[in-house]
Amino acid sequence: MNTPLVQPGDTVRLRKKHPCGSYEWTVTRIGADIGLACLSCGRRIMLPRGTFNKRLKMVVKYASVKHAPIKHITANE
Ligand SMILES: [Zn+2]
Repeated sequence: MNTPLVQPGDTVRLRKKHPCGSYEWTVTRIGADIGLACLSCGRRIMLPRGTFNKRLKMVVKYASVKHAPIKHITANE
């Protein structure tokens, strides 16, 4: 398993707009699938990690500076 780009609590922006008009999501869980909650409407979805990585545009806010991508850390999973 490669290093996850994000951690639960992070805010991310995806390339594709949610029907509600928001691009921003909060990461709710990390695993084989990535759990996301829409910041605007609160809807929760799960995306396979590969799909998430493709759709991810940027991380808007890191929940913790410890895993900000200055250097990669080992996944704790
Ligand atoms: Zn939404």
